Amino acid sequence: MRSDICYLDNAATSWPKPPEVAKAMCDFLETSAGNPGRGGHALARAASATIERARSDLARLVHAECDRRIVLTHGCTDSVNLAIHGIFRGPMCRPACGSKPHAVVSAVEHNAVLRTLHCFEEHGILDLTIVQCGEDGLIDPDDFLNACTKRTTLACLSHASNVLGTIQPVQEVGAGLKERSPCALFLVDAAQTAGHMELKTCEWGIDLMAIAGHKGLLGPTGTGALYVGCCAYPDETDKPHLFCERRGGTGAVAPGLDMPQVLPDALEAGTMNAVGFAGLSAAIEVLPTIDHAHEQALIGRMLEGLQSIDGVKLYGMPTTAGRTCSIAFNITDKPARDVAAELDQSDNIAVRGGVHCAPMLHEVIGSGVRGAVRASPSPWNTVAEVEGFLAAIDRIAAG
Ligand code: PMP
Repeated sequence: MRSDICYLDNAATSWPKPPEVAKAMCDFLETSAGNPGRGGHALARAASATIERARSDLARLVHAECDRRIVLTHGCTDSVNLAIHGIFRGPMCRPACGSKPHAVVSAVEHNAVLRTLHCFEEHGILDLTIVQCGEDGLIDPDDFLNACTKRTTLACLSHASNVLGTIQPVQEVGAGLKERSPCALFLVDAAQTAGHMELKTCEWGIDLMAIAGHKGLLGPTGTGALYVGCCAYPDETDKPHLFCERRGGTGAVAPGLDMPQVLPDALEAGTMNAVGFAGLSAAIEVLPTIDHAHEQALIGRMLEGLQSIDGVKLYGMPTTAGRTCSIAFNITDKPARDVAAELDQSDNIAVRGGVHCAPMLHEVIGSGVRGAVRASPSPWNTVAEVEGFLAAIDRIAAG
Protein backbone atom coordinates (compact mmCIF):
# COMPACT_ATOMS: atom_id res chain seq x y z
CA MET A 1 0.00 0.00 0.00
CA ARG A 2 1.22 3.52 -0.76
CA SER A 3 1.73 5.26 2.55
CA ASP A 4 0.77 8.66 1.16
CA ILE A 5 -2.86 7.62 0.74
CA CYS A 6 -5.40 10.34 1.48
CA TYR A 7 -8.05 8.31 3.28
CA LEU A 8 -11.54 9.84 3.09
CA ASP A 9 -13.64 6.70 3.60
CA ASN A 10 -14.14 6.81 7.37
CA ALA A 11 -17.91 6.26 7.07
CA ALA A 12 -17.06 2.75 5.80
CA THR A 13 -14.40 2.10 8.42
CA SER A 14 -12.02 4.44 10.18
CA TRP A 15 -8.36 4.57 9.19
CA PRO A 16 -5.69 4.94 10.36
CA LYS A 17 -6.38 3.28 13.68
CA PRO A 18 -4.55 4.79 16.65
CA PRO A 19 -1.22 2.92 17.16
CA GLU A 20 -2.49 1.86 20.59
CA VAL A 21 -5.00 -0.44 18.85
CA ALA A 22 -2.43 -2.61 17.07
CA LYS A 23 -0.25 -2.64 20.18
CA ALA A 24 -3.11 -3.84 22.41
CA MET A 25 -4.00 -6.55 19.88
CA CYS A 26 -0.39 -7.77 19.67
CA ASP A 27 -0.07 -7.70 23.47
CA PHE A 28 -3.29 -9.70 23.77
CA LEU A 29 -2.10 -12.35 21.30
CA GLU A 30 1.24 -12.65 23.06
CA THR A 31 0.07 -12.65 26.68
CA SER A 32 -3.68 -13.19 27.05
CA ALA A 33 -5.07 -15.19 24.13
CA GLY A 34 -6.94 -17.96 25.92
CA ASN A 35 -10.62 -18.59 25.26
CA PRO A 36 -12.71 -16.05 27.19
CA GLY A 37 -15.16 -17.66 29.59
CA ARG A 38 -13.86 -21.16 28.92
CA GLY A 39 -11.59 -22.60 31.56
CA GLY A 40 -10.12 -21.21 34.76
CA HIS A 41 -6.46 -21.04 33.81
CA ALA A 42 -4.49 -17.83 33.57
CA LEU A 43 -4.84 -17.28 29.81
CA ALA A 44 -8.59 -17.94 29.85
CA ARG A 45 -8.96 -15.54 32.78
CA ALA A 46 -6.93 -12.87 30.96
CA ALA A 47 -9.09 -13.25 27.86
CA SER A 48 -12.26 -12.99 29.97
CA ALA A 49 -10.92 -9.82 31.59
CA THR A 50 -10.33 -8.34 28.11
CA ILE A 51 -13.92 -9.08 27.11
CA GLU A 52 -15.36 -7.68 30.32
CA ARG A 53 -13.25 -4.54 30.01
CA ALA A 54 -14.61 -3.91 26.50
CA ARG A 55 -18.15 -4.50 27.74
CA SER A 56 -17.62 -2.01 30.54
CA ASP A 57 -16.04 0.58 28.21
CA LEU A 58 -19.01 0.32 25.84
CA ALA A 59 -21.55 0.46 28.68
CA ARG A 60 -20.01 3.71 29.88
CA LEU A 61 -20.00 5.09 26.34
CA VAL A 62 -23.75 4.58 25.79
CA HIS A 63 -24.80 5.29 29.39
CA ALA A 64 -26.17 1.76 29.86
CA GLU A 65 -27.72 0.88 33.22
CA CYS A 66 -25.13 -1.86 33.73
CA ASP A 67 -22.38 -3.66 31.84
CA ARG A 68 -24.35 -6.84 31.23
CA ARG A 69 -26.80 -4.88 29.01
CA ILE A 70 -24.02 -4.68 26.42
CA VAL A 71 -23.98 -7.73 24.14
CA LEU A 72 -20.77 -7.98 22.14
CA THR A 73 -21.14 -8.70 18.42
CA HIS A 74 -19.14 -8.83 15.18
CA GLY A 75 -20.32 -5.43 13.95
CA CYS A 76 -23.38 -3.28 13.45
CA THR A 77 -25.05 -5.62 10.93
CA ASP A 78 -24.69 -8.44 13.43
CA SER A 79 -26.20 -6.23 16.17
CA VAL A 80 -29.15 -5.18 13.99
CA ASN A 81 -29.86 -8.80 13.03
CA LEU A 82 -29.65 -9.90 16.65
CA ALA A 83 -32.22 -7.26 17.60
CA ILE A 84 -34.66 -7.75 14.71
CA HIS A 85 -34.55 -11.57 14.70
CA GLY A 86 -34.71 -11.45 18.49
CA ILE A 87 -37.99 -9.53 18.34
CA PHE A 88 -39.76 -11.14 15.40
CA ARG A 89 -38.82 -14.75 16.05
CA GLY A 90 -39.45 -14.66 19.78
CA PRO A 91 -41.95 -13.98 22.53
CA MET A 92 -41.57 -10.18 22.20
CA CYS A 93 -43.64 -10.50 19.04
CA ARG A 94 -46.73 -11.12 21.11
CA PRO A 95 -50.27 -11.30 19.71
CA ALA A 96 -51.61 -8.97 22.45
CA CYS A 97 -50.19 -6.12 20.38
CA GLY A 98 -52.59 -6.79 17.49
CA SER A 99 -53.24 -9.29 14.75
CA LYS A 100 -49.98 -8.82 12.85
CA PRO A 101 -46.82 -7.13 14.09
CA HIS A 102 -45.85 -3.87 12.47
CA ALA A 103 -42.47 -2.20 12.04
CA VAL A 104 -41.75 1.44 11.23
CA VAL A 105 -38.45 2.56 9.70
CA SER A 106 -37.19 5.56 7.76
CA ALA A 107 -36.10 5.75 4.13
CA VAL A 108 -32.64 6.68 5.43
CA GLU A 109 -31.91 3.18 6.73
CA HIS A 110 -28.96 1.02 5.79
CA ASN A 111 -29.53 -2.40 4.19
CA ALA A 112 -28.59 -3.98 7.53
CA VAL A 113 -32.04 -2.84 8.68
CA LEU A 114 -33.97 -2.73 5.38
CA ARG A 115 -33.03 -6.18 4.09
CA THR A 116 -33.55 -7.83 7.46
CA LEU A 117 -37.04 -6.35 7.87
CA HIS A 118 -37.90 -6.95 4.21
CA CYS A 119 -37.19 -10.66 4.71
CA PHE A 120 -39.74 -10.83 7.55
CA GLU A 121 -42.24 -8.79 5.54
CA GLU A 122 -41.87 -11.08 2.53
CA HIS A 123 -42.58 -14.10 4.72
CA GLY A 124 -45.80 -12.44 5.95
CA ILE A 125 -44.46 -12.07 9.50
CA LEU A 126 -44.84 -8.29 9.73
CA ASP A 127 -46.20 -5.22 7.99
CA LEU A 128 -43.58 -2.61 7.22
CA THR A 129 -44.08 1.16 6.99
CA ILE A 130 -41.27 3.26 5.56
CA VAL A 131 -41.35 6.93 6.55
CA GLN A 132 -39.93 9.33 3.96
CA CYS A 133 -37.33 11.97 4.70
CA GLY A 134 -36.62 15.33 3.08
CA GLU A 135 -33.85 15.87 0.51
CA ASP A 136 -31.64 16.88 3.42
CA GLY A 137 -32.08 13.33 4.74
CA LEU A 138 -33.98 14.52 7.80
CA ILE A 139 -37.15 12.79 8.96
CA ASP A 140 -39.94 14.76 10.62
CA PRO A 141 -40.39 13.16 14.08
CA ASP A 142 -44.16 13.81 13.88
CA ASP A 143 -44.39 11.91 10.56
CA PHE A 144 -42.44 9.06 12.10
CA LEU A 145 -44.57 8.94 15.25
CA ASN A 146 -47.80 9.26 13.24
CA ALA A 147 -46.83 6.08 11.39
CA CYS A 148 -46.60 4.20 14.70
CA THR A 149 -49.78 2.51 15.91
CA LYS A 150 -50.92 0.26 18.77
CA ARG A 151 -49.70 -2.81 16.89
CA THR A 152 -46.23 -1.39 16.14
CA THR A 153 -43.70 -3.79 17.58
CA LEU A 154 -40.54 -2.11 16.34
CA ALA A 155 -39.60 1.46 15.47
CA CYS A 156 -36.15 1.70 13.97
CA LEU A 157 -34.12 4.75 13.05
CA SER A 158 -30.56 5.38 11.90
CA HIS A 159 -29.01 7.91 14.24
CA ALA A 160 -27.12 9.44 11.31
CA SER A 161 -27.30 8.72 7.60
CA ASN A 162 -24.23 6.91 6.28
CA VAL A 163 -24.68 8.79 2.97
CA LEU A 164 -25.59 12.37 3.92
CA GLY A 165 -24.41 12.44 7.53
CA THR A 166 -27.76 13.92 8.63
CA ILE A 167 -28.38 13.39 12.35
CA GLN A 168 -31.95 12.28 13.08
CA PRO A 169 -34.16 13.50 15.94
CA VAL A 170 -33.96 10.23 17.91
CA GLN A 171 -34.71 11.98 21.22
CA GLU A 172 -38.07 13.28 19.95
CA VAL A 173 -39.03 9.87 18.58
CA GLY A 174 -37.91 8.12 21.78
CA ALA A 175 -39.92 10.58 23.93
CA GLY A 176 -43.19 10.07 22.02
CA LEU A 177 -43.07 6.42 20.98
CA LYS A 178 -44.41 4.47 23.97
CA GLU A 179 -47.46 6.73 24.32
CA ARG A 180 -48.56 5.85 20.77
CA SER A 181 -47.24 2.31 20.65
CA PRO A 182 -47.03 0.77 24.12
CA CYS A 183 -45.68 -2.54 22.73
CA ALA A 184 -43.04 -0.99 20.48
CA LEU A 185 -39.32 -1.26 21.03
CA PHE A 186 -37.12 1.56 19.74
CA LEU A 187 -34.01 0.36 17.89
CA VAL A 188 -31.40 2.98 16.97
CA ASP A 189 -28.68 2.19 14.45
CA ALA A 190 -25.75 4.18 15.82
CA ALA A 191 -23.18 2.88 13.31
CA GLN A 192 -22.38 6.42 12.17
CA THR A 193 -22.56 8.26 15.50
CA ALA A 194 -20.77 6.09 18.08
CA GLY A 195 -17.48 7.81 18.79
CA HIS A 196 -18.66 11.02 17.12
CA MET A 197 -21.18 12.20 19.69
CA GLU A 198 -22.55 11.35 23.09
CA LEU A 199 -25.10 8.51 23.15
CA LYS A 200 -27.65 8.46 25.97
CA THR A 201 -29.64 5.28 25.55
CA CYS A 202 -31.83 5.40 28.69
CA GLU A 203 -32.40 9.16 28.71
CA TRP A 204 -33.43 9.12 25.04
CA GLY A 205 -35.98 6.29 25.40
CA ILE A 206 -33.90 3.84 23.36
CA ASP A 207 -34.53 0.12 23.94
CA LEU A 208 -31.90 -1.28 21.60
CA MET A 209 -28.85 0.41 20.13
CA ALA A 210 -26.65 -1.16 17.44
CA ILE A 211 -23.03 -0.05 17.41
CA ALA A 212 -20.04 -0.69 15.13
CA GLY A 213 -16.64 -0.85 16.79
CA HIS A 214 -14.67 -0.20 13.60
CA LYS A 215 -15.97 3.21 12.52
CA GLY A 216 -16.02 6.26 14.83
CA LEU A 217 -14.90 4.19 17.79
CA LEU A 218 -11.62 3.56 15.90
CA GLY A 219 -11.48 -0.14 16.75
CA PRO A 220 -10.74 -3.07 14.43
CA THR A 221 -13.25 -4.65 12.03
CA GLY A 222 -15.19 -7.58 13.46
CA THR A 223 -16.22 -5.69 16.60
CA GLY A 224 -19.59 -4.24 17.55
CA ALA A 225 -22.22 -4.26 20.26
CA LEU A 226 -25.94 -4.25 20.92
CA TYR A 227 -27.23 -2.29 23.91
CA VAL A 228 -30.27 -4.13 25.29
CA GLY A 229 -32.55 -2.10 27.57
CA CYS A 230 -34.96 -3.32 30.25
CA CYS A 231 -38.07 -3.29 27.99
CA ALA A 232 -36.28 -5.44 25.40
CA TYR A 233 -34.95 -7.88 27.96
CA PRO A 234 -36.56 -7.54 31.41
CA ASP A 235 -34.57 -8.66 34.43
CA GLU A 236 -37.31 -11.14 35.31
CA THR A 237 -36.69 -13.87 32.77
CA ASP A 238 -40.28 -15.18 32.86
CA LYS A 239 -41.31 -11.99 30.98
CA PRO A 240 -41.14 -11.93 27.13
CA HIS A 241 -37.65 -11.14 25.91
CA LEU A 242 -35.46 -11.22 22.83
CA PHE A 243 -35.05 -14.62 21.25
CA CYS A 244 -31.51 -15.71 20.36
CA GLU A 245 -31.22 -17.51 17.05
CA ARG A 246 -27.56 -18.28 17.51
CA ARG A 247 -27.22 -21.07 20.05
CA GLY A 248 -24.22 -22.78 21.58
CA GLY A 249 -21.75 -22.61 24.39
CA THR A 250 -21.27 -19.42 26.36
CA GLY A 251 -18.95 -20.62 29.08
CA ALA A 252 -21.70 -20.14 31.69
CA VAL A 253 -23.35 -23.12 33.32
CA ALA A 254 -26.93 -23.68 32.13
CA PRO A 255 -29.15 -26.67 32.84
CA GLY A 256 -30.13 -28.96 29.98
CA LEU A 257 -29.95 -27.84 26.39
CA ASP A 258 -31.40 -24.36 26.85
CA MET A 259 -29.37 -21.19 26.54
CA PRO A 260 -28.69 -19.28 29.76
CA GLN A 261 -31.55 -16.85 30.46
CA VAL A 262 -29.51 -13.94 31.76
CA LEU A 263 -27.69 -11.21 29.83
CA PRO A 264 -25.24 -11.09 28.22
CA ASP A 265 -24.82 -14.89 27.97
CA ALA A 266 -28.38 -15.32 26.67
CA LEU A 267 -27.39 -13.53 23.45
CA GLU A 268 -23.70 -14.41 23.16
CA ALA A 269 -23.03 -17.94 21.89
CA GLY A 270 -19.59 -19.05 20.71
CA THR A 271 -16.06 -17.78 21.19
CA MET A 272 -15.83 -14.00 21.16
CA ASN A 273 -13.45 -11.91 19.04
CA ALA A 274 -11.31 -11.21 22.10
CA VAL A 275 -8.33 -9.89 20.14
CA GLY A 276 -10.63 -7.43 18.38
CA PHE A 277 -12.13 -6.26 21.66
CA ALA A 278 -8.63 -5.77 23.10
CA GLY A 279 -8.07 -3.34 20.23
CA LEU A 280 -11.47 -1.71 20.71
CA SER A 281 -10.83 -0.97 24.40
CA ALA A 282 -7.51 0.64 23.49
CA ALA A 283 -9.28 2.74 20.84
CA ILE A 284 -12.00 3.88 23.25
CA GLU A 285 -9.28 5.07 25.62
CA VAL A 286 -7.95 7.33 22.85
CA LEU A 287 -11.36 8.89 22.02
CA PRO A 288 -11.20 11.76 24.57
CA THR A 289 -7.99 13.05 22.95
CA ILE A 290 -9.60 13.56 19.53
CA ASP A 291 -9.58 17.07 18.10
CA HIS A 292 -13.23 17.38 17.01
CA ALA A 293 -12.84 21.09 16.22
CA HIS A 294 -10.21 20.21 13.58
CA GLU A 295 -12.52 17.56 12.09
CA GLN A 296 -15.41 20.06 11.95
CA ALA A 297 -13.14 22.58 10.21
CA LEU A 298 -12.21 19.98 7.58
CA ILE A 299 -15.86 19.06 7.00
CA GLY A 300 -16.76 22.76 6.70
CA ARG A 301 -13.99 23.38 4.16
CA MET A 302 -14.98 20.35 2.09
CA LEU A 303 -18.63 21.42 2.01
CA GLU A 304 -17.75 24.98 1.07
CA GLY A 305 -15.14 23.90 -1.49
CA LEU A 306 -17.41 21.38 -3.22
CA GLN A 307 -20.21 23.95 -3.55
CA SER A 308 -17.89 26.38 -5.28
CA ILE A 309 -16.87 23.94 -8.05
CA ASP A 310 -18.86 24.18 -11.31
CA GLY A 311 -20.61 20.92 -12.15
CA VAL A 312 -20.62 19.56 -8.59
CA LYS A 313 -23.97 18.73 -7.01
CA LEU A 314 -23.76 18.43 -3.25
CA TYR A 315 -26.49 16.42 -1.50
CA GLY A 316 -27.80 16.95 2.02
CA MET A 317 -26.98 19.65 4.57
CA PRO A 318 -24.69 22.36 3.13
CA THR A 319 -23.07 23.32 6.46
CA THR A 320 -21.56 21.46 9.42
CA ALA A 321 -24.61 21.84 11.71
CA GLY A 322 -26.64 18.69 12.42
CA ARG A 323 -24.44 16.32 10.47
CA THR A 324 -21.53 13.90 10.77
CA CYS A 325 -18.59 13.52 8.38
CA SER A 326 -20.35 11.80 5.42
CA ILE A 327 -20.42 14.16 2.43
CA ALA A 328 -22.18 12.99 -0.76
CA PHE A 329 -21.95 14.60 -4.18
CA ASN A 330 -21.88 13.97 -7.92
CA ILE A 331 -19.94 15.59 -10.72
CA THR A 332 -22.06 16.49 -13.80
CA ASP A 333 -23.33 13.19 -15.24
CA LYS A 334 -20.22 11.14 -14.42
CA PRO A 335 -20.88 7.75 -12.82
CA ALA A 336 -20.05 7.97 -9.11
CA ARG A 337 -17.98 4.78 -9.21
CA ASP A 338 -15.86 6.18 -12.09
CA VAL A 339 -15.11 9.33 -10.09
CA ALA A 340 -14.10 7.20 -7.08
CA ALA A 341 -11.89 5.04 -9.32
CA GLU A 342 -10.19 8.09 -10.83
CA LEU A 343 -9.51 9.58 -7.39
CA ASP A 344 -8.01 6.25 -6.33
CA GLN A 345 -5.88 5.68 -9.42
CA SER A 346 -4.77 9.21 -10.28
CA ASP A 347 -4.66 10.87 -6.87
CA ASN A 348 -4.38 8.06 -4.29
CA ILE A 349 -7.50 9.42 -2.60
CA ALA A 350 -9.84 6.86 -1.00
CA VAL A 351 -13.59 7.66 -1.25
CA ARG A 352 -16.56 5.44 -2.03
CA GLY A 353 -18.86 5.71 -5.04
CA GLY A 354 -22.25 3.99 -5.32
CA VAL A 355 -25.37 3.66 -3.18
CA HIS A 356 -23.57 2.81 0.08
CA CYS A 357 -26.13 0.13 1.06
CA ALA A 358 -28.81 2.82 1.41
CA PRO A 359 -30.81 2.52 -1.85
CA MET A 360 -34.00 4.24 -0.64
CA LEU A 361 -32.18 7.39 0.36
CA HIS A 362 -30.69 7.68 -3.12
CA GLU A 363 -34.22 7.52 -4.56
CA VAL A 364 -35.22 10.43 -2.28
CA ILE A 365 -32.26 12.63 -3.20
CA GLY A 366 -32.60 11.83 -6.91
CA SER A 367 -29.31 9.98 -7.37
CA GLY A 368 -31.07 6.61 -7.94
CA VAL A 369 -28.97 3.61 -8.98
CA ARG A 370 -26.07 5.84 -9.99
CA GLY A 371 -25.61 6.73 -6.33
CA ALA A 372 -23.10 9.34 -5.32
CA VAL A 373 -19.48 9.88 -4.39
CA ARG A 374 -19.07 9.84 -0.62
CA ALA A 375 -16.10 11.48 1.08
CA SER A 376 -15.83 11.13 4.84
CA PRO A 377 -12.84 12.75 6.55
CA SER A 378 -11.54 12.04 10.03
CA PRO A 379 -9.67 14.08 12.64
CA TRP A 380 -6.43 12.54 11.29
CA ASN A 381 -6.75 14.22 7.89
CA THR A 382 -4.86 17.43 7.24
CA VAL A 383 -5.94 20.71 5.66
CA ALA A 384 -3.47 19.98 2.82
CA GLU A 385 -5.21 16.65 2.12
CA VAL A 386 -8.61 18.34 1.92
CA GLU A 387 -7.21 21.00 -0.45
CA GLY A 388 -5.67 18.22 -2.58
CA PHE A 389 -9.04 16.45 -2.69
CA LEU A 390 -10.83 19.66 -3.77
CA ALA A 391 -8.20 20.30 -6.47
CA ALA A 392 -8.70 16.76 -7.81
CA ILE A 393 -12.51 17.24 -7.90
CA ASP A 394 -12.00 20.56 -9.68
CA ARG A 395 -9.84 18.84 -12.32
CA ILE A 396 -12.31 15.97 -12.84
CA ALA A 397 -15.23 18.41 -13.10
CA ALA A 398 -13.34 20.49 -15.68
CA GLY A 399 -12.29 17.43 -17.74
N1 PMP B 1 -25.77 0.83 9.62
C1 PMP B 1 -25.18 1.91 9.10
C2 PMP B 1 -25.89 3.25 9.20
C3 PMP B 1 -23.91 1.82 8.54
O1 PMP B 1 -23.32 2.91 8.04
C4 PMP B 1 -23.27 0.55 8.48
C5 PMP B 1 -21.92 0.40 7.82
N2 PMP B 1 -21.83 0.94 6.55
C6 PMP B 1 -23.94 -0.55 9.02
C7 PMP B 1 -25.18 -0.38 9.57
C8 PMP B 1 -23.31 -1.90 9.01
O2 PMP B 1 -22.23 -1.92 9.90
P1 PMP B 1 -21.12 -3.07 9.90
O3 PMP B 1 -20.24 -2.76 8.74
O4 PMP B 1 -20.41 -2.88 11.22
O5 PMP B 1 -21.80 -4.36 9.81
